[in-house]
Amino acid sequence: MSLVSELVAAVGREHVEELDAGNWRVTPGSAAEVAEVIRRAGALKAAVHPIGTGGRPQRARPDAAGAGGGAAAVDRLRVFLSTRRLDQVLELDETSLMVHVQAGLTGLALERILAPRGLSIGDYPPVVLTSSIGGIIAVRTPGKSSARHGFFEDAVVGVSAVLADGRSVHTRVAPRRSTGPDLARALMGSEGTIGFITSAVLRIHQKPEARLVAAYTLPSIDAAVSAVYLALREEAAPSGLRIYDAAEAFEHFDGLVLPPQQALLCAGTAGPTDLAACDRDLITSAVLAEGGQPTDTALAELWWRRTHAGEPTPALAPNLQVMATPSKLRAVYRAVVTELATQGGSARAHISRFDADGAVVFFTLIHGSGDPDAAIVGAAERAAEAAGGWLLGARATKLDPYLRALREAIDPHRIMNPGTLA
Ligand SMILES: Cc1cc2nc3c(=O)[nH]c(=O)nc-3n(C[C@H](O)[C@H](O)[C@H](O)COP(=O)(O)OP(=O)(O)OC[C@H]3O[C@@H](n4cnc5c(N)ncnc54)[C@H](O)[C@@H]3O)c2cc1C
Repeated sequence: MSLVSELVAAVGREHVEELDAGNWRVTPGSAAEVAEVIRRAGALKAAVHPIGTGGRPQRARPDAAGAGGGAAAVDRLRVFLSTRRLDQVLELDETSLMVHVQAGLTGLALERILAPRGLSIGDYPPVVLTSSIGGIIAVRTPGKSSARHGFFEDAVVGVSAVLADGRSVHTRVAPRRSTGPDLARALMGSEGTIGFITSAVLRIHQKPEARLVAAYTLPSIDAAVSAVYLALREEAAPSGLRIYDAAEAFEHFDGLVLPPQQALLCAGTAGPTDLAACDRDLITSAVLAEGGQPTDTALAELWWRRTHAGEPTPALAPNLQVMATPSKLRAVYRAVVTELATQGGSARAHISRFDADGAVVFFTLIHGSGDPDAAIVGAAERAAEAAGGWLLGARATKLDPYLRALREAIDPHRIMNPGTLA
């Protein structure tokens, strides 16, 4: 049978669409159909590319193995397997605060289901929650964390996935306190190369009783970073934090003028009213210890509306994002600002996505009249890396031989998302 007949037999004609020659988009309606599609596609050595909300282009990517391991990469049949119809809540356990959801439901859709019940997925940046649950779990990025609720992957109690040969695995076969390795860890961040995630059990939270915001000025970016980590070391668990340098504050707060070296820190805390106030007080004490002071709360209210309630921010989108550990953040900031000044331009920044492991510096590089050219961006990237930063999308590759061996063992024909990761 041809690939298309196999796909139609698995999910029905109306859920199979030809994108172009040899490339098919298939939209299964259940985990069983996902398994059937992968089994049938694998038997023909067609590649299977999982697709969530489709943040990535639905086009074939270079694949060294090719069909049967030898054919030209472009000749390989490909199935783009979408989770769009896998959008149901399978079980909500309000006592255990856990929800079992299919992979195609977006974080925002889940939040809309939980909110009327006084529940929430957690204080993750809203932009992260526009993705599908499967996509959020399949790609580990620095944005998927919050100082209050940790990394999104820590909220994943179990996953169900289909492997390259069509077998299904369910990692949650016992409560999380049971012993032994957790296979879910191998699937998280595997970008569809280890298996197709069909559903996940997530830990959820009660909607906070109170949300408080506060704004502070500090003498410098260094002082602001120190204040944040002083508070986090004291185990403050804010729902959001953002530091702006003076130039960025001017752009984001409609012409707010701060002395050039100063920084603005906006903080949000949440939870039972007393705890939210306690977290805010911990942050205030840390700010005072670093020579800063509280400022107009209206600035923090505006920040929250713009980052969490969809109010548009007038400033340009950042054009360089760099992750760094707490000890390297200040050096990364200084290195990029100094490099742009040397090149005759300027860089401004805000720092957010804070957790115990570090944060992300969002730079806007300005050079000449338009966007900076590739040489300028390249120079800024090298400066950031030399200062110990990691560029967006950078990945530790030292363990790639082990990842390749794992893939080889469970997917010898490189069916699952070939061309991605090692
Ligand atoms: C390498 C990389 C780095 C990124 N870094 C950032 C970042 O730092 N900040 C940010 O905001 N966004 C980042 N993104 C965007 C990222 O795509 C989104 O954060 C989100 O994970 C995408 O969800 P989605 O539903 O749109 O999935 P898609 O964009 O459709 O898919 C994303 C990847 O996950 C795989 N995938 C999707 N669904 C499943 C599933 N059910 N089972 C198995 N695999 C699946 C896809 O094959 C693809 O490799 C990054 C994306 C990639 C690929």
